[in-house]
Amino acid sequence: MADEGEKKSKKQARKIHGYYEIKESKLERKRKNCPKCGPGVFLGEHSDRSSCGKCGYTEWKKK
Ligand SMILES: [Zn+2]
Repeated sequence: MADEGEKKSKKQARKIHGYYEIKESKLERKRKNCPKCGPGVFLGEHSDRSSCGKCGYTEWKKK
């Protein structure tokens, strides 16, 4: 019986690890496209704003 419980907790740990991996790839795709340049041109991420390096468009982040 003790062995069975150990297996279960190992499975759970693996599940959590996979969840984090999905979260991280989602974060990378969160980068916004520039509304002026269109899809393919991403806004650079800054701590307080996102800005386009191509046309200079800046989007301020809300607090
Ligand atoms: Zn742009």
